[in-house]
Amino acid sequence: MSEKLGKFGDMPSGDFRKFGYQIIDQLADYFDEMEKYPVLSQVELDWLKSNLPSSAPETGEDFGDILGDVDKLIMPAVTHWNHPNFHGLFSTSTSSVGVFGEMFAAAFDMKAMLWRTSPASTELEDVVLDWLRQMMDLPEHFEGIIYDTASVSTMHAIAAAREKANLRIRDEGMSGRDDVPLMRVYCSEHVHSSIDKGVITLGLGLRSLRKIECNNRFEMIPEKLAEAIDEDIEAGYLPICVIPTVGTTSTSSVDPVDAIADVCEKYGIWLHIDTAYAGSTAIVPEFRKYFKGWERADSIVVNPHKWLFTPFDLSVLYCKDLSVLKEAFSLVAEYLKTTDEQTVKNGMDYGIQLGRRFRALKLWFVIRYFGREGLVERLREHCRLARLFASWVEASDNWEMMAPVPFALVCFRACPAGVDDLNALNEKIMNEINASGEAYLSHTKLNEKYTIRLSVGSIRVEERHLTKVWNLLNAAISDKS
Ligand SMILES: *Cc1c(COP(=O)(O)O)cnc(C)c1O
Repeated sequence: MSEKLGKFGDMPSGDFRKFGYQIIDQLADYFDEMEKYPVLSQVELDWLKSNLPSSAPETGEDFGDILGDVDKLIMPAVTHWNHPNFHGLFSTSTSSVGVFGEMFAAAFDMKAMLWRTSPASTELEDVVLDWLRQMMDLPEHFEGIIYDTASVSTMHAIAAAREKANLRIRDEGMSGRDDVPLMRVYCSEHVHSSIDKGVITLGLGLRSLRKIECNNRFEMIPEKLAEAIDEDIEAGYLPICVIPTVGTTSTSSVDPVDAIADVCEKYGIWLHIDTAYAGSTAIVPEFRKYFKGWERADSIVVNPHKWLFTPFDLSVLYCKDLSVLKEAFSLVAEYLKTTDEQTVKNGMDYGIQLGRRFRALKLWFVIRYFGREGLVERLREHCRLARLFASWVEASDNWEMMAPVPFALVCFRACPAGVDDLNALNEKIMNEINASGEAYLSHTKLNEKYTIRLSVGSIRVEERHLTKVWNLLNAAISDKS
């Protein structure tokens, strides 16, 4: 037993052990008994704030008391993303081995900037991302880098595309220059807001983002893309990047990547594929058809923290040529200079962050623990459950499907006979279920029609959870008609 730290040191290791075991017990119960909690936190706004002191304690507190407050104060204000009936937005969840990865990463507390300061993080990241690349059947020339979120991955991809345009923006910037044309980034109308935020952050401005029309399956129309590019070139603008999405946020629709790659190739434009949500399914052979042509991309973003049971945050950017990012961002201050710069990969060279979390560890745990086969089985089951739910919708006169189901997201709405305002009805049904805490659904608008979205993705979800939602929906509709 080492209790060697004096009063100015850390918590004695005996206490760390004691509380550590207690926390693991608590988390094991949490995972086992998840369903006893309401999915959406039921607290009122500012409930937690009003129950906490307004300033920090002057002297240290007993950790037992602090831990007690997690139950009393924090738990009621937690929305349970891991809950099997969390179907809103995209259903994401962590596996318990993912939590172990976070524990080690926190304990090591390394800042992966230089290889030297973090060989384990740097090398494990390379190896795990190469495993994932192979699992997704991407060609060998793709090299990956881990960022926190897809928003940040995509911002870096757009920055790389801009770097590739050779406008010396790294050194001269864009402001005060009249030799820089309006740059254009293209995506569909159904993209994630992170693309808008990316162009805002990079100083390109929303004016640079051109949203291309979709067909009735919510997929980008490549001919419209080519027309837009021609028109922009005619106007003296500079197309720098096209961003198709495989698995859009609204409906999980799939832009035709191969045809879009043809357009990018013709004009020499950077092709970045946003598949933050659906990218995980590229490990499932029968889903590869949705990714046809993605091997032609310059960059691809996929989020293991979304649908690969890895705790938030871990987003991967794969690049055909990672050195473009290095050209855009590498900046080696004197105190960071090392003699091995030319031979090692230093994470800090590939983005705006200096220190980077040791995120690869949790993904390594997840991939090793479940194996490729285990992950494939789980994704297949989620897609099967979503299709099953869709079949119930299709078979009912009171409900209708609003979009195809390529993955595990079902877009549908209530449409009982004799109701005029279907938008109001669907909004009411959804809000009522969400308020009950029994399940969480979210919505989108498709052609002005209020559409309920049900995402299946929790590692704890089973068929009975979908039956439960289906019963809740049908009870809500019979209340109202
Ligand atoms: C979820 C999602 C994002 C944003 O993911 P973050 O990691 O939270 O930034 C971007 N694009 C698509 C298609 C998504 O599904």
